[in-house]
This record gives sequence, C-alpha cells and structure tokens, in this order.
Amino acid sequence: MAEVLVLAEHADGEVKKVTVELLTAARRLGEPSVVWTGGGAEAGKARLAEFGAVKVYVADSEDLSGYVVAPKAELLAQLVAEKSPAAVLVAGTAEGKEIAGRLAVKTGSGVLTDATDVQGGPDGPVAEQPNFGGAITVHSTVKQGTPIIAVRPNSVTAEPAAGSAEVEAVSFAASDAAKGAKVTSREAAEKGERPELAEAEIVVSGGRGTGSADGFKVIEELADALGAAVGASRAVTDAGWYPHAFQVGQTGKTVSPQLYVAAGISGAIQHRAGMQTSKTILAINKDPEAPIFEIVDYGVVGDLFKVVPQLIEEIGKKKQL
Ligand SMILES: Cc1cc2nc3c(=O)[nH]c(=O)nc-3n(C[C@H](O)[C@H](O)[C@H](O)COP(=O)(O)OP(=O)(O)OC[C@H]3O[C@@H](n4cnc5c(N)ncnc54)[C@H](O)[C@@H]3O)c2cc1C
Repeated sequence: MAEVLVLAEHADGEVKKVTVELLTAARRLGEPSVVWTGGGAEAGKARLAEFGAVKVYVADSEDLSGYVVAPKAELLAQLVAEKSPAAVLVAGTAEGKEIAGRLAVKTGSGVLTDATDVQGGPDGPVAEQPNFGGAITVHSTVKQGTPIIAVRPNSVTAEPAAGSAEVEAVSFAASDAAKGAKVTSREAAEKGERPELAEAEIVVSGGRGTGSADGFKVIEELADALGAAVGASRAVTDAGWYPHAFQVGQTGKTVSPQLYVAAGISGAIQHRAGMQTSKTILAINKDPEAPIFEIVDYGVVGDLFKVVPQLIEEIGKKKQL
C-alpha cells in the first residue's frame, strides 16, 4: 500500500489533536508515516500508534528547531524524493500552509489548502474545500507531482486504529537558504485555565450583542461554568473587546467542538465557516430572524444578559447535585 506522509504538530512530545485527525485522513489514502521534527518522538509514539501510524520518521536536528518554517519544507521535500509517497498531509494552520506552499514549489507539485475532508479517488486523493465562506463546496484533485494537502484542524473526526509506529531516524541538514530566519528566543505563551480554543470540547462564543468588553465578561463566566474555551465573532475582536486570537470564522479559528454556544452572534456566513461543523449548536439571540437560528440544534430567543446568567445559575445547581 502506498505511503502517505503526515507532518506532525506537537509540543515537546504532546501530540496535537490535528495530527491524529491527519492520521485518520491519511489512512483513507494509504499507510500513514509520520514526519516528526525535533525532540519528544518517544513520548508521542504511543499516541501516533493509537491512530494508525505505521512509521515515524524522526528528524531531531538543530537545523529544524533553530529556524522557522523553511527547513521543514526541505525535510519533507527530501522525504518525498526518497519515499515517493501517495500524498503529503499537513495541518491547515498558518505554519502548515506555508510549509505546504514551499514544499509544492520544491517538488513541482500541486497543493490544496483549507481542505475540510480528504478521501481516496480514482485519480488520487480528493480534497473537499469550502469556498466563499462555506457557500460553495468544491472537490479537487492534484494533477501534477505529489498531492500536498493542508487539512483544517477540527474538520476530520479522529478515529483510532492500531499502527506499529516504528521509529526511524532521518538525517537532515538544511541548506543555507533555508536558514535565513533564525529563532533567537522562545517565550511560552501564557496558558490560562481554559482549554485551547481549537481543541476544546465546548466553546462559548460571544458577538456584538454583548455590547462592550465589559458585557463580554458574561461569555467568560458561562465558559468557566461549562469548562469551555471562549470564542468571539469578528465584530467583537475588531472592536477590541476580546483578543483576535479568539476569533472564530473564515479569517479566524475553525472549531468543531461537541457543543458550540453562540450568544449575541447573528450567524454571518464568515462566522459559520468556522463553527458549522460543531456537533451541537446552541444560539442565544434576541432576534428570532437571526441567520444563526438556521443552523442551530437549540435556539433561545431572548436577551443574552437575562438568559446567560440563568444558564450559569442552572449549571451551578446541576454541579451541586
Ligand atoms: C472577508 C471577511 C471575513 C470575515 N471573517 C469573519 C470571521 O472569521 N469571523 C466572524 O465572526 N466574522 C467574520 N466576518 C464578519 C462577518 O461578516 C460579520 O460582520 C460578523 O460575524 C458579525 O459579528 P456578530 O454576529 O457578532 O455581529 P452582528 O452581525 O452585529 O450580530 C449581533 C447579533 O447580536 C444580537 N443581539 C444584540 N443584542 C443582543 C442581546 N442583548 N441578547 C441577545 N442577542 C443580541 C443581534 O440580534 C444580532 O443578531 C468577515 C467578513 C468578511 C467580509
């Protein structure tokens, strides 16, 4: 069976959720081999095996950890030349998409980004891509070279399948050209108590209906009552009521939690593009005609400043039981 390369996203051995999603997609195309850059592969191996990785190519080189994206694209190009894989899958993150583009140039291949699904087809992998904020869905294949596909986090449901995850060391030296931008220092991002937005099981998002940065605090309170991550519409982040890193939508993060709560969000197509694959959607909006109600499982027509505190109170009561 053809080999499919999957570039792992990890934080010092902790395998990110998107990596196991990519492994699930890769299994539909062939035998997944993970490409692991930097240290921590031994710690991550069990999780990779749980999701069907057959091999884990480990390139633990200062040429990768000491520089930004270019060396990773060179490493993948080296492996594409050596292994002739059926496809290369990377996470559709800002870094993943840059690597995909660079790899496509280096290998003379076609690249598909923002894929929300990947399936095998008679002419190679078929990527599903939403366009115009999800209004149109297209299915694309690559006609030249090795298909390189950047898959959006949270769009493929990760399913376990046993794999051997055999570790194989890869020697790699980056070219001088790829060493143009060096990492000079690292500072860990402050991690709050809340789960990471893109990986959270529950997301509570607030929109312009919260009225102000102060009004937005009720969203945080509900998120904390549910143990959820906080999200926001672009209207909120553009107004400076909440940081841009928490924006959900076409130009923000894509989330696909078990439960998505949208309070005071109208449901513009660009917002939906980032959350419409959530398993259960609950919206609170005072306008019964708000477009968000077209895609919800549960809708509450009402003032969020009245509904949300009641919800928090009820959640508190349930917790005491
Ligand atoms: C190229 C492009 C990219 C974009 N990318 C994104 C993106 O990534 N993410 C994104 O979110 N948007 C994005 N947008 C913007 C998008 O089009 C909308 O403008 C935005 O999503 C609106 O945010 P909102 O729903 O919070 O505000 P509004 O559309 O103003 O809706 C506010 C809602 O709150 C309700 N409301 C008001 N007061 C209350 C209350 N007290 N209680 C309950 N409900 C109340 C109103 O009925 C209304 O439905 C993009 C736009 C463009 C053009």
